[in-house]
Amino acid sequence: MTENQQTTSAKWQEELRDAFKSPAELLDFIGLDAKSAPFLLELSSDFPFLVTRTFARRMARNNWHDPLLAQVLPLKVENDKKPGFGSDPVGDLNALSADSLLHKYQSRVLHLPTPACAIHCRYCFRRHFPATHTSHQKGLPTAAHEYLNKHSNIDEVILSGGDPLMLSDDHFEQLFLELAAIPSIVRIRIHTRIPIVLPSRIHSRFLDLLNHYSQRFTWIWVIHCNHPSELSADVCQTMQLLRQASHLLFNQSVLLRGVNDSADILEQLSLRLIQMGVIPYYLHQLDKVDGAAHFEVPESIGASIMESLRQRLPGYMVPKYVREEAGKPFKTPL
Ligand SMILES: *Cc1c(COP(=O)(O)O)cnc(C)c1O
Ligand code: SF4
Repeated sequence: MTENQQTTSAKWQEELRDAFKSPAELLDFIGLDAKSAPFLLELSSDFPFLVTRTFARRMARNNWHDPLLAQVLPLKVENDKKPGFGSDPVGDLNALSADSLLHKYQSRVLHLPTPACAIHCRYCFRRHFPATHTSHQKGLPTAAHEYLNKHSNIDEVILSGGDPLMLSDDHFEQLFLELAAIPSIVRIRIHTRIPIVLPSRIHSRFLDLLNHYSQRFTWIWVIHCNHPSELSADVCQTMQLLRQASHLLFNQSVLLRGVNDSADILEQLSLRLIQMGVIPYYLHQLDKVDGAAHFEVPESIGASIMESLRQRLPGYMVPKYVREEAGKPFKTPL
């Protein structure tokens, strides 16, 4: 490793240590006063506050309604119980097949290598997911290994979480080595919000590690961006690196009230993504997780937003509007 690469691989961890860990700190940074906000939630420790500085820098100053702030700000309304909402909205716990593996969809399996994230999104459907079902060891747990070897119809491993890019490079080195030894696995898909919230994580040494396997695996990224203001220059640069390495790039968004529930915003998002070489893949109807009900957009409104997008945009810029249903082996188109 060159000295320069060492610096870059440590930089993201430093940035993470430096992230905002309380609403008051972040609000102060963007010119707002937590004390004048009786609607803020006193945080409990099970889903603490976490926002990186690079993400915070994209928020407007002095605006309680900023769409990026809305995604991370803990509100008292989270405590309101709403019928139909629960702690495991998509049936994750029933689909657990082997330590850290979630096998719900036929040919592909989710591996959850870590419960950690670089940001805590208040609408997250895994906000109550027990961390004990994610792997904490280097590489694949033995049971997961056996499962993949036995089920040769599985040709794609989706790294999910948490955010899989929270793992260290050493962990990835081991994981890719082990996956490469399973002949049926030909694609690795990375579901991550880190290119948006902590782009420095994708430094050159990490990319080299992936590109080492470019003959063995097709690399597919599904990033998670909800609003065009999230796409800052550092994010663009990172996506450019991935494009240069011929990785396939997609985005998924969650339809969120007060964030992106408008055709104008989603149109801008698609245009910006395509400009960066990222294909809009899914627009998710909110999963009904406790604490996120205030983000819900009725499906009828979602459908009319989709109609506008279809009128305005080329087909490849229109994401699929879908809902995840417990126990169903594919996403339901809406
Ligand atoms: C969404 C999802 C996948 C991947 O679905 P694709 O339609 O292939 O993008 C796989 N497993 C689970 C449990 C999922 O929720
Ligand atoms: S898993 Fe994704 S949506 Fe959930 S908190 Fe982490 S980054 Fe946000």
